[in-house]
Amino acid sequence: MIDFQHVLDTIHQTAQKTDDRGKIADYIPELAKVDKYKFGIHLVNMNQENFSAGDSNERFSIQSISKVFTLTMALGLIGEKLWTRVDVEPSGDPFNHLSLLEFEKGIPRNPFINPGAIVVADVLISHLKNPKDEFLAFVRNIADDETIDYNSTVAASEKQTGFHNYAAANLLKSFKNLENDVETVLDFYFHQCSLTMSCAQLANTFYLYINNGRCRRKNTHLTSGQVKRINALMLTCGFYDEAGEFAFEVGLPGKSGVGGGIVALHPNKFCVATWSPGLNEKGNSKLGMLALEKLTTETELSIF
Ligand code: GLU
Repeated sequence: MIDFQHVLDTIHQTAQKTDDRGKIADYIPELAKVDKYKFGIHLVNMNQENFSAGDSNERFSIQSISKVFTLTMALGLIGEKLWTRVDVEPSGDPFNHLSLLEFEKGIPRNPFINPGAIVVADVLISHLKNPKDEFLAFVRNIADDETIDYNSTVAASEKQTGFHNYAAANLLKSFKNLENDVETVLDFYFHQCSLTMSCAQLANTFYLYINNGRCRRKNTHLTSGQVKRINALMLTCGFYDEAGEFAFEVGLPGKSGVGGGIVALHPNKFCVATWSPGLNEKGNSKLGMLALEKLTTETELSIF
């Protein structure tokens, strides 16, 4: 039996001794206010036993990690039809690059780059009466936690500097791959990215992706085929243009965000969330990646 608590404690001790923590994202001004020296890690196994170390209960901006939840909700609403509007190939580009989108006539490479997530947001808006409320209720349900919320200050901060996402949404609109108006879609998108959650909450929310689509409340949200596809997308597209490096170093599907969070999972075994706000050059949490590499190396639990 693996002593997960011991492994997490060791990872936390190493993290505390590490000075080079990368650079905090400041293109969303609110994100730049976070303490660079925070570090948290939380792991939940199949039996729902929880292990944690560091600042694992402190909430932070989950940013792109929210794209996994919108994708899950969209697949539940329109199923495989989604793939006529978004592709499933890694982009090899940073999350906000637009050149490929123009080249490929408005079909985003995958649902985790920004244009893909904006199309997924558009799908939700077209199918929900009160999109922001219903999406929040959905996340609270799969998390089994009614305290999760948006941070409207972060959403407003991103709106002020979100020129690139406005460009992406306008490009999608010009290629007729956006049904709703740009302002409405981006307001939803900035709110989904502003969700604030802790490592403990994230690991427990991702439980459904290790448990065949059944969340902690024992509701089934995805077919096993859909879980397979989401996990495959996390492996191939979950880390911007560093998905190959993450598979190489860590060997698990997962998703990161510019708030410094990473969630990774081993189907039928465990999911783990880390948070350290400093990012590497590719936009992934520097310490988070090191921590997860150590976790899968020491426990010998990677999918490969
Ligand atoms: N809201 C951020 C953006 O669109 C999300 C980026 C990320 O976490 O990858 O720029």
